[in-house]
Amino acid sequence: MKVLITGGAGFLGSHLTDRFLRDGHEVVGMDNFITGSPDNIAHLAGHPGYRFIRHNVSDYVFIDGPLDGVLHLASPASPIDYLEHPIPTLKVGALGTHNALGVAKAKGARFFLASTSEVYGDPLVHPQPESYWGNVNPVGPRGVYDEAKRFAEALTMAYHRYHGVDTRIVRIFNTYGPRMRPNDGRVVSNFIVQALRGEPLTIYGDGSQTRSFCYVEDEVEGLYRLFMHGDPEPTNIGNPVEFTVRQLAELVVELTGTSAPIEYRDLPVDDPKVRQPDITRARGMLGWEPKVPLREGLERTIAFFERALETVDA
Ligand code: NAD
Ligand code: UDP
Repeated sequence: MKVLITGGAGFLGSHLTDRFLRDGHEVVGMDNFITGSPDNIAHLAGHPGYRFIRHNVSDYVFIDGPLDGVLHLASPASPIDYLEHPIPTLKVGALGTHNALGVAKAKGARFFLASTSEVYGDPLVHPQPESYWGNVNPVGPRGVYDEAKRFAEALTMAYHRYHGVDTRIVRIFNTYGPRMRPNDGRVVSNFIVQALRGEPLTIYGDGSQTRSFCYVEDEVEGLYRLFMHGDPEPTNIGNPVEFTVRQLAELVVELTGTSAPIEYRDLPVDDPKVRQPDITRARGMLGWEPKVPLREGLERTIAFFERALETVDA
């Protein structure tokens, strides 16, 4: 297969690119580096199955030749990123998704949307099955991301129903691992980088809010299987083992052996209090479930950040 991956120089996009190339497929990567980095794809320079186009997918997209798949991952994903880039986030969810769907339709290619657990907002149903419609504040600061993704899901289903495009929608839950940016602002990278630098670990609120963290290798295997063997209904892909943010901080302290203290800061507006995927659908349809426990995933991620910080802090 030959696939286009938008957001291909990001954290997940670059790992997904590696997964496709590993099975002998061809990949065209597209990215404007708003939150991604050439470092994430540097190892692909000269790879015969890989081509990269620097482009903003919210502007008209033109691709030469046939394509079998379009995987739309482009979007700022970390809360600090989408709060810093609210309008590009809304545009890439709306215009970018429209352009990517247009390419899929023109090429007769399968379309794959990277959606998010944020479509469930601050959920009133726990854990979250795909049938839950969510509890999102459209006008709050996080609305720029949540509503862009909800619109992107609606547009994807419209292209499926009205244009017959073969589509997939994945709702990705908190994923972590190598290639996250040290300053990306998400909780796992923040805590690890703070611990390694001996700076206070910043817990927002009292740390009783929960998240369910999936190691990137597991997540990407789920995305790949969904693309290959899934169906058009939205599918949760994430790790169902739930932790409080305080438990995560304590585990990072233990694994890094840091003597850094824990500091409490204000909880961001509309921060979801709980989050845990119901993955019954993915298990049944794809025979997929995560394999890497948080402790092991954190150890690998800590090793990555130890190397990354040697360069950044040098
Ligand atoms: P990331 O910021 O590392 O990657 C996103 C990539 O998209 C970056 O390389 C960025 O430069 C690129 N991009 C953004 N806007 C663009 C545009 N207009 N044109 C071209 N490129 C553009 O984030 P990530 O964690 O890899 O997230 C990838 C996708 O997965 C996003 O769509 C995100 O919403 C979704 N997602 C991620 C998580 C997670 O925990 N990592 C959770 C839920 C959903
Ligand atoms: N968080 C925290 N300290 C940090 C960064 C985040 O306590 O330094 C909290 C944040 O308030 C949220 C959870 O960790 O409750 C996960 O935040 P993240 O930004 O990783 O992603 P989210 O799940 O909110 O999109």
